[in-house]
Amino acid sequence: MSSSSSLLSQTEALLETEGHRITATRRGVLKAIAAADSPLTIEEISDRVPDIGRATVFRTVKLLQELGVICRVTLENGGIRYVLSTSSHHHHLICNECGSVTEFSSPQLDQAIHEEAEAAGFELSNHTVELYGKCKHC
Ligand SMILES: [Zn+2]
Ligand SMILES: [Zn+2]
Ligand SMILES: [Zn+2]
Repeated sequence: MSSSSSLLSQTEALLETEGHRITATRRGVLKAIAAADSPLTIEEISDRVPDIGRATVFRTVKLLQELGVICRVTLENGGIRYVLSTSSHHHHLICNECGSVTEFSSPQLDQAIHEEAEAAGFELSNHTVELYGKCKHC
């Protein structure tokens, strides 16, 4: 995933388009995530914005996640990390070696998931798909 500043401005533009103010707190948190080489834990995000209180960082991360501009990623070992999101609904390929997270989309997979839920009489609210393994660089 690119951590360039263009991705950051793209994310900020998206927030503004959807009518959300870019507060200094939101920018600080987004910047910390965008500048990182790999996905960060919430503690690591908090450490990188020392001037923002931890509770505020937690709230901001949750909000940005709800807005779809960052992703909450569950690692195979159960750890939770955050990365910028570069597309709308997608799934993740997570490398157990280097920790990189790559997005992929699959309309066929999404359709199968919806059909399974429907067949089970299950009212689907959301789904995530995380694939674990070793990326092509590792
Ligand atoms: Zn994602
Ligand atoms: Zn890797
Ligand atoms: Zn999906």
